[in-house]
Amino acid sequence: MNGTIEQLKADVLVVGAGIAGLQTSLDLADQGNRVLLVERQPSIGGRMINLSKVFPTLDCASCITTPRMASVAHHSSIDLYTYTEVDRIEREKGKFRAYLTKKPRYIEEELCIGCKRCEEACTTYLPDEYDHGLGGKKAISIPFTNAIPQYPVMDMDNCLLCGSCAKACPTQCINFLQEPKTFEVEAGAVIMTTGYNLTELSAKKQYGGTKYPNVISPLQMERLLAPHGPYGGVMRPSDGKIPSSIAFVQCAGSRDKSLGVPYCSRVCCMYAIKQAMLLSGSLPIADITIYYMDIRAFGKGYEQFYQNAKAMGIEFVKAKVGRISEDSEHNPILRIERQEDVAQPEEVTHDLVVLSLGMVPAWVPDRDGIIPLETDTDGFIRSMNEKITPSLTSLSGVFAAGTITGPKDIVDTILEAGAAATEAANYLRGQEVR
Ligand SMILES: Cc1cc2nc3c(=O)[nH]c(=O)nc-3n(C[C@H](O)[C@H](O)[C@H](O)COP(=O)(O)OP(=O)(O)OC[C@H]3O[C@@H](n4cnc5c(N)ncnc54)[C@H](O)[C@@H]3O)c2cc1C
Repeated sequence: MNGTIEQLKADVLVVGAGIAGLQTSLDLADQGNRVLLVERQPSIGGRMINLSKVFPTLDCASCITTPRMASVAHHSSIDLYTYTEVDRIEREKGKFRAYLTKKPRYIEEELCIGCKRCEEACTTYLPDEYDHGLGGKKAISIPFTNAIPQYPVMDMDNCLLCGSCAKACPTQCINFLQEPKTFEVEAGAVIMTTGYNLTELSAKKQYGGTKYPNVISPLQMERLLAPHGPYGGVMRPSDGKIPSSIAFVQCAGSRDKSLGVPYCSRVCCMYAIKQAMLLSGSLPIADITIYYMDIRAFGKGYEQFYQNAKAMGIEFVKAKVGRISEDSEHNPILRIERQEDVAQPEEVTHDLVVLSLGMVPAWVPDRDGIIPLETDTDGFIRSMNEKITPSLTSLSGVFAAGTITGPKDIVDTILEAGAAATEAANYLRGQEVR
């Protein structure tokens, strides 16, 4: 660890640079506040930059997210710290003091020109987290094409230390001995925008996720549908076959007390319908089936989106999926019980199955530390005045926005991010509404 602690100052510290963190930072900075935005991943953009297209408009996700990422990176009032962990935040005489650790990328950022010669020279291939394990990456690589910042990260645990990257680098920026750097930040207010994770693919043992290669997560399907996805099209992970029959299993990680996720994750019906529509566009002769308990198309234009999907020929089957097994060619076999007519359980075989997993908070104070905020029983951050000022948390001066407070779509995330920026600005002016 580097011995010196650099001192930093900001009006507002924002933790997490998904769409909520990006939007709240831009809103605050445009109002003249100095923002320090911290992201634990090597690039900003969160989950949204990883999506293919977005419901209900079917706009390209990265076309919407990338300009916002660039605006944040170039804003003169935003200081960006990526690949950085927030160790703890303390309250001190009406201010906040945060302790950060920037993890080593094993490159000198001031020297790196993002030319990717190190990546080209590297001979070690690893599974790519950006493609949720479906594709490969080099042991030193820029996380994805439009990552911001455009710096590579070296995976030191898997690096062979062969030195090819260092030899190829035209600016000598590779530093195998780089150490973590620590920072202390003084800030007037804090906004937490740490977002969500999905429930584990393997959580429902009876569905065989992670055991069966053709039972995949919805984020993996987003990557298969993305223009620059891992396979350059929709193919099955087991054998590269183009699937002709694809199924979605709804509520495969939500509304299930046995998983500790009794609530509805709100977006799963909509993302499954979106993916089904995109699949029917890219694989016009494929059969696409959605097995559901009930469809929750809750937002503006969402019911019409659902009706459009039905008109396109996507089959909606009201049925419970009891379990999934597979045959000798890795075709998933679903044991289903139809709900609409009294019928015997039946078995249906598909080429590829997507489990519509639920949302859980990525950061939980009791589990992960940082700052002691109150949560609801499900672990999402408790809003102190949900109807009037949803971004107020249990600590004065600390606000929260996006999926950290509960499952929601991008529209509601952006609205909450704007609200949090306004509340934080009011707080800095001594006009907090409680
Ligand atoms: C498969 C799927 C498809 C979807 N499709 C759509 C769609 O088409 N349309 C739509 O409206 N919604 C869609 N959604 C929902 C959408 O993804 C969310 O509404 C949105 O991305 C939430 O943004 P966020 O900023 O709250 O969280 P995130 O995107 O999760 O961002 C949180 C950020 O905080 C960072 N972070 C976490 N912890 C820390 C920490 N301790 N320190 C520093 N940084 C931290 C994370 O690395 C991340 O970058 C979809 C969801 C899924 C699962």
